[in-house]
Amino acid sequence: MAKIAIIGAGITGLCSAYYLSKSGHEVSIYDSGEIGKECSYGNAGLIVPSHFETLANPGILKKGIKWMLNSNSPFYLKPRCDMDLLKWLVRFNLFCTKKHVENNKYFLRDINLYSHGLYNDLYKNDDLDFELKHSGLLILCKEEKTLIEEQSLINESWELGLDASMLNKEELNKLEPNVNFDCIGASYYKCDSKIQPYDFMQSIIKYLKKSNVQIYENCEITDFDIKDGEIQSLSNSLNEKFSADEFVLSSGILAFDFAKKLDLNLTMQAGKGFSFRAQKNEFMDFSTPLILAEQKVAVSPYDEYVRFGGTMMICGNDLSIDENRVNNIRKAANSYIKDLNLQKNQTYDIWAGLRPCSPDGLPYIGKSKKYKNLTVATGHAMMGVSLGPASGKIVDNLINGNKNDIDISFMDIHRFT
Ligand SMILES: Cc1cc2nc3c(=O)[nH]c(=O)nc-3n(C[C@H](O)[C@H](O)[C@H](O)COP(=O)(O)OP(=O)(O)OC[C@H]3O[C@@H](n4cnc5c(N)ncnc54)[C@H](O)[C@@H]3O)c2cc1C
Repeated sequence: MAKIAIIGAGITGLCSAYYLSKSGHEVSIYDSGEIGKECSYGNAGLIVPSHFETLANPGILKKGIKWMLNSNSPFYLKPRCDMDLLKWLVRFNLFCTKKHVENNKYFLRDINLYSHGLYNDLYKNDDLDFELKHSGLLILCKEEKTLIEEQSLINESWELGLDASMLNKEELNKLEPNVNFDCIGASYYKCDSKIQPYDFMQSIIKYLKKSNVQIYENCEITDFDIKDGEIQSLSNSLNEKFSADEFVLSSGILAFDFAKKLDLNLTMQAGKGFSFRAQKNEFMDFSTPLILAEQKVAVSPYDEYVRFGGTMMICGNDLSIDENRVNNIRKAANSYIKDLNLQKNQTYDIWAGLRPCSPDGLPYIGKSKKYKNLTVATGHAMMGVSLGPASGKIVDNLINGNKNDIDISFMDIHRFT
């Protein structure tokens, strides 16, 4: 049994704490803010084997350049003089190739399916109490050209053995008879599922507390002590010290700066997104989550409310709310869901989150070569929730010296050093 300290209590850190505690370790977890309130809070909660295409892909490069010039677009890159941004952009650009997408699609399918399987196990066992809906995911298309792109992804998903199909308007109406979508068709990924991420994290916290895991909120880890090539202890801003045998770095986007101090280049940029909730009414009477394809907006229906989220702003670690972009998410929803007519005053819990985005669109999970008792798990970009249990289980396996069920070499933490 080892003493383990985890830096960062988002979905990645909490899932790691869960599996490590189950393995019998003495676990402590530290978060600089309120637990689970950063990027893992207001996201769409989608579990997405359908997302087998890396964020860095040829399509995003073409659209990204066009979108960058439009203040209403779902993607925005704030020009700024920053070497880290420049290096990230150069790399991102190099990875926007068909070959890169091809090379990684099997891995992304496998890790998402693996994580989905772990969600199923967690749902069935008695430790946690959360809702897991095998809801599928609809990608609504307004334009013929988008529909053709989606058809080609569906063809690929068949090759990958995923349960997915194209739906025409009639089939869409049959699936969701109580709502009138303004689109010409959709792709439908039956293989995808959904959770409420904050509720899921709360249930892990409840379990951790029962299992005597020490949880430190509002405790920013600022430094560490090193001796003989191993981390000995962490310290916080009050200079309190926390010793352990093994350390896990799962602090989302902020892991980049922290890792620099440990000679690790976890190059990442924050991909800022926004979301809000609206109380359910008769025009939101659907149960399948949606992606509004042309506007890149995700819509997640829950029992009482619907969460709408979107936008990818590369603008540094800035959590301010951009009203214009939030309004654009609302307008997008109104344009795809007939009669919705969602007004600003009907929206609440308006939120911004910073997705930890690596330049190749793959997470960083692995053990440090330099500091043998350091394990890293971050860089999940748009899939941190989907990959939460897989990340936690892989961290647990790495620390226990167990073999992993999937090939984790794609997530090598040293690939940019
Ligand atoms: C609009 C939007 C929609 C999304 N939808 C989905 C979706 O449907 N499905 C999906 O899979 N993903 C989705 N994502 C992405 C997902 O939210 C992220 O990938 C995921 O939350 C990242 O989790 P994390 O635990 O790595 O980071 P975080 O949740 O950010 O957690 C990191 C934690 O580390 C703490 N921390 C940082 N530095 C320190 C320090 N020095 N000391 C102590 N603590 C520290 C922070 O306070 C934070 O709590 C979405 C994101 C956005 C913005």
